[in-house]
Amino acid sequence: MGNTEKGKLIVVSGPSGAGKSTVVFKAINGREDMCFSTSVTSRKPRPGEIDGREYFFIDRERFEKMVESDELLEHAVYVGNYYGTPRKFVEDKLDAGNSVFLDIEVQGARQVKEKKPDAVMVFLIPPTLDELRKRLEKRGTESEETICNRLSRAREEYAEADFYDYIVVNDDPDIAAAELNAILLAEKCRFSARKHMLAEA
Ligand code: ADP
Ligand code: 5GP
Repeated sequence: MGNTEKGKLIVVSGPSGAGKSTVVFKAINGREDMCFSTSVTSRKPRPGEIDGREYFFIDRERFEKMVESDELLEHAVYVGNYYGTPRKFVEDKLDAGNSVFLDIEVQGARQVKEKKPDAVMVFLIPPTLDELRKRLEKRGTESEETICNRLSRAREEYAEADFYDYIVVNDDPDIAAAELNAILLAEKCRFSARKHMLAEA
């Protein structure tokens, strides 16, 4: 019986500052069968962000060309900036049996669910919106105005989130990462994902 499992596409959304990148990187840490899809964005890098690590930072013109030539699996505008997922990286990794995490907002997540109905949809939230404000202030990378915009966008996202499969509350990031790994494990054990094993036994 073959023991190779197919990789899963895992979409993680949630308000900016909820801790998505912290938790996703903890979940992936040390796992060679899991990877993160680095997005392209027209947003300017924050201090400490490195091109090709957090994002590929590109200008609007280049972004629009990528949309025209269908190089993006999904894309959206978020608080005035473009964000998108390069298609080829994701397809190549999934074909090779790796699981791929996308950290994307709700409009993009909806596009992924339409194009890839097998994708696992996770909504990651902070314990409260007050705590979210504190995390954004502590991160210190946004102006007061941007923080306000991101908090009001968070309320809109909560109202649009009913198509997700799971909610993970990021109080303790180690527990949140363990929950993310547990979701992935359970999804890989689905009857539909493994029924070929019955025929191959
Ligand atoms: P996102 O990717 O959702 O925008 P980040 O991972 O950048 O969020 O986290 C936002 C800030 O909150 C960072 O400074 C991070 O270190 C901090 N943080 C993440 N998870 C927690 C947590 N469970 N408790 C307290 N602070 C956290
Ligand atoms: P930030 O500017 O804080 O890094 O990200 C802002 C928002 O954009 C977050 O909600 C993040 O999940 C989302 N985002 C990051 N990359 C992508 C992407 O490729 N596509 C979409 N649709 N959203 C993204």
